[in-house]
Amino acid sequence: MPDRFPAILVSKDGDEAQKVEQVELGLDDLMDGDVVVDVSHSTVNYKDGLAITGKAPVVRRWPMVPGIDFAGTVASSADPDFKPGDAVILNGWGVGEVHYGGYAGKARVKGGWLIHKPDGLTGAQAMTIGTAGYTAMLCVMALERQGVTPDQGPIIVTGAAGGVGSVAIAILARLGYEVLASTGRPEEADYLKGLGAADIVAREDLSGKPRPLNKERFAGGVDAVGSTTLANVLSMTRYGGAVAACGLAGGMDLPSSVMPFILRGVSLLGVDSVMAPRARRIEAYDRLVRDLDHDKLAAMTTTIDLAGVPQAGADIVAGKVRGRVLVEVGG
Ligand code: NDP
Repeated sequence: MPDRFPAILVSKDGDEAQKVEQVELGLDDLMDGDVVVDVSHSTVNYKDGLAITGKAPVVRRWPMVPGIDFAGTVASSADPDFKPGDAVILNGWGVGEVHYGGYAGKARVKGGWLIHKPDGLTGAQAMTIGTAGYTAMLCVMALERQGVTPDQGPIIVTGAAGGVGSVAIAILARLGYEVLASTGRPEEADYLKGLGAADIVAREDLSGKPRPLNKERFAGGVDAVGSTTLANVLSMTRYGGAVAACGLAGGMDLPSSVMPFILRGVSLLGVDSVMAPRARRIEAYDRLVRDLDHDKLAAMTTTIDLAGVPQAGADIVAGKVRGRVLVEVGG
């Protein structure tokens, strides 16, 4: 990788609308850290879309190289856990929000934020999974820890055709769960069934005014949408079931009541990927090697280069992206 490298930069002067452009940076432009990584791949997650479009205050330090995750090879390291040539993955820790992120040929970060890439994945596969897919696995692991098993009944996945939803469906189906895919895009039914969904639930079925309790339909859920959708899912979760909540694509409110919790013993499991402890990250990626069909992963992926990032960021916030977007950054 040459001394100068391409990067996507978002900047803002005073009250001006934010600007997104492709620039060239050098190592001296990067922020503090003890490991320099040659970035090979990144992805476009929903949060990256928010950072690129400015639709929500994801970027909290200006200017910023967005990209909340990346895979690459260690170029230099002052951290004894990493040496040049090591293949690494980064998800979260404020990268792409307050620390220069994955949409650049090089990144300088803290070694404690990195994990070694498992042997069973290429860098491209790791970022095809990306933060959305790794979060989907964290959701599945949360349901498992709560004792949700395939014999208990169907699992609802909301925001199904998006990144978290698509990967959650593929994992749950492979683990033997009956998966119901909730989508606002009925034209994606074949895609969702191809990933392993047993049936489709229309978005409208879960977006009406939530009742405190409704007919018991689901043994569990993975929710990427929040708001009335999550409230409806909770009201329809069977006695003793659990819902892993990770997203807010439909809104950050939760117009629910305590009734599902106190009358049906339903559990609401919060899932955060950004500050998740390292051991859980390593477990999640090891599980992703085993419990995800990588052909299905490839089939749900669109590949772009850095120049395509601004448009893909706008598309994901507009709900137009299906599955995952892989960004080829460097060699
Ligand atoms: P995507 O944009 O790929 O998917 C979101 C999906 O939600 C869309 O595809 C759409 O699914 C559905 N959706 C969008 N808008 C609405 C709406 N207004 N009402 C109902 N459904 C809607 O995003 P990701 O999958 O990457 O991320 C999903 C959510 O998870 C985001 O809010 C993201 O910020 C969050 N997230 C949280 C993480 C954490 O650490 N907690 C980590 C990663 C993501 P369909 O078209 O099928 O209806």
